[in-house]
Amino acid sequence: MRKITVILLFIGLFYTGLASRDRLVLRLPEIEGYQIVKCDFHSHTVFSDGHVWPDFRVGEAWADGLDALAISDHIEYQPHEKDLPTNHNRSFELAKGAADAVGITLIKAAEITRDMPPGHLNALFLTDVDKLDTENWRDAIKAAYDQGAFIFWNHPGWTGQQLDGISRWYDEHDELLADGMLHGIEVVNSDEYYPRVHQWCIEKNLTMLGNSDIHSTTDMDYNHITGNHRPMTWVLATSRETNDIKEALFARRTIVYWRDMLIGEKQYLEPLFFGAIRLETPTIVRAKRQHVQLANLSDLLFELELVSAPEGVSAPQSFTLQPGHATRIRLGFDKDKAFSSIKLNYVVNNLQIAPEEGLPVSLTIAVD
Ligand SMILES: [Zn+2]
Ligand SMILES: [Zn+2]
Repeated sequence: MRKITVILLFIGLFYTGLASRDRLVLRLPEIEGYQIVKCDFHSHTVFSDGHVWPDFRVGEAWADGLDALAISDHIEYQPHEKDLPTNHNRSFELAKGAADAVGITLIKAAEITRDMPPGHLNALFLTDVDKLDTENWRDAIKAAYDQGAFIFWNHPGWTGQQLDGISRWYDEHDELLADGMLHGIEVVNSDEYYPRVHQWCIEKNLTMLGNSDIHSTTDMDYNHITGNHRPMTWVLATSRETNDIKEALFARRTIVYWRDMLIGEKQYLEPLFFGAIRLETPTIVRAKRQHVQLANLSDLLFELELVSAPEGVSAPQSFTLQPGHATRIRLGFDKDKAFSSIKLNYVVNNLQIAPEEGLPVSLTIAVD
């Protein structure tokens, strides 16, 4: 059985032309019994305005460490239509074999590509993309809704539709929201982060998404030289199966991973942080100076800044927990004060629970 899996994996990678590239493994904790399923819900192929064949997207997703991928070719924009006749379902069909072979969950999707408003929207978990090819945008979104799709608004601050790069909410979006046809928004699209959208998601209870919208290759756009990674939507799901990802998206259990930043609700970022670190000196001996050791067992970076320490205790103003490393921070004690335990309050600046608002965390250390 295992032999067959290995053969399938090899064939799958060979097939997608990426046999020589290793897969990125991100060490991440489980969050409240859910696994972190790494997804990109927005990508293009030659079947719209992308530069690559559909199965290439799968090999690339595997190498980038993704668990699930949506190929979301434009319905209304096909610059290669003279060479590739319109077939909205074809990119999914051509990628499915490769996805099955390497264990990537492939989600059938499309990008509804209209002027602003309502702009561009992705529909996930479709059964038949052809039904979305309609004259009126309302009919296209309704057709997606009728297939039980998860529908999200793409890149609201894209300068192609908002010259000043500022995201704006229109009456049409109120209409979609009231009709239950808008479930999430991209807080991050490729190299753009939209603080206004972040705030809308909090206020309107919408799912936060971060996607690559890759047209070229992620090697060209993200990984080459800089060692950066593509944006991802991390879905907190019971498994990486399609239905479990869908359930989690509708339940708004997501974290956006962009550069060194993680964007999401406090209820998920807090257990992520505490699941990733270990206090290796839970008790310290009273002395004029002492060290506290913290290990970061994940592949994430954490940047901490001091908010407050008890009177008579000095602690570093800021420090960074590097991925896969332990860090020692030095505390100083006022010689006249006695402590049985101390609580240090920090904010993790790169874990954003709201625009420009980091995650507050407390570290409690017993003193002997
Ligand atoms: Zn778009
Ligand atoms: Zn797109």
